[in-house]
Amino acid sequence: MSDEILKSIYEITKKFEDPSTKQVFDENNKKISVLVENGNVNISLIIEPNKKNDYFNVISGLKSKISNIPNINSVNIALTSEKQPNQSRKYTIDCEHIIAVASGKGGVGKSTFAVNIATSLSLLGKKVGLLDADIYGPSIPRMMGLSEKPKTSENKKLIPLEKHNIKCMSIGFLIDPDTPTIWRGPMVIKALEQMFNGVEWGTLDYLIIDLPPGTGDAQLSLAQNTKLTGSIIVSTPQDVALIDARKGINMFKKVNVPILGLVENMSYFICDNCEQKHHIFLSGGAKKEAENFNIRFLGELPLDKNLCIDSDRGKPVNIGNKNSSTSELFKKIAIDINNIVTS
Ligand code: ADP
Repeated sequence: MSDEILKSIYEITKKFEDPSTKQVFDENNKKISVLVENGNVNISLIIEPNKKNDYFNVISGLKSKISNIPNINSVNIALTSEKQPNQSRKYTIDCEHIIAVASGKGGVGKSTFAVNIATSLSLLGKKVGLLDADIYGPSIPRMMGLSEKPKTSENKKLIPLEKHNIKCMSIGFLIDPDTPTIWRGPMVIKALEQMFNGVEWGTLDYLIIDLPPGTGDAQLSLAQNTKLTGSIIVSTPQDVALIDARKGINMFKKVNVPILGLVENMSYFICDNCEQKHHIFLSGGAKKEAENFNIRFLGELPLDKNLCIDSDRGKPVNIGNKNSSTSELFKKIAIDINNIVTS
């Protein structure tokens, strides 16, 4: 008896179309489920929460048609919403674009890139935050010229330190630098959560995250707990660095984090005397690697002693040496990144 009623109900539902997906509500449509018990019909439709007004006609049409089937006592139709994938994300922040800067190995200029790209985006008029998650050697405070500790707000959140118009927070403020690295791994997940949920970031256009090198806890934890817009991989031209960069690319692909592009740092050196570009290491390695992986190549940055000097004195290059060619290169990459994420 119920089977017959069920069949008659589906004869009716398949004449109705889902206003969102434009698919008919037949037996194969996973957005509808029908339960019949003692002549009482319970239908649930899975919809997007903000679209419920679109379903008024479907509900009244289904109700009046199904009520006319013989032996039906009542028809109840409920709208439910599917759990959104990001509902399980634990790190919350009011930020339009969260970008993780990563590298396969240490010392390739990942933090230098993070600092200078944050400053370049800020110079484009964006509200920028810089989060230093490099547990092995948090260097953002030094590179941004920050030595004080963040204060706590009335609602017990940390107030990020502000420098060069950028809000900065470092894992160095939360983890004792003398703690052995072996203990920091498990701590990093807790500390990362605190750096999102326990910090007064306000509203940001960009949050740039300086990740620890490699493919460890911080990367996975971020991929799982926040909605990353994408990652940028920094490498130097040598094969050893590129092999590690490849591991980083594969890891982000596995956890479904888009890769915005690959940058080659310390690509060449411009000689003070002859003003020629010298490719001290190999040339074009990262570009080729990007092509192999079908990811964007964001550009080559030179080995520039002023970049190193500026970093040591806490000044991003486009503040310390704002008319230099290196500063222009960072600005160009920032414009490209902004175009990529907003297109
Ligand atoms: P990572 O974050 O990958 O460990 P850093 O950004 O801390 O690397 O850079 C390591 C060192 O190399 C720092 O002293 C930094 O100033 C220097 N450095 C980075 N990139 C350049 C560059 N393009 N030219 C000159 N020095 C650089």
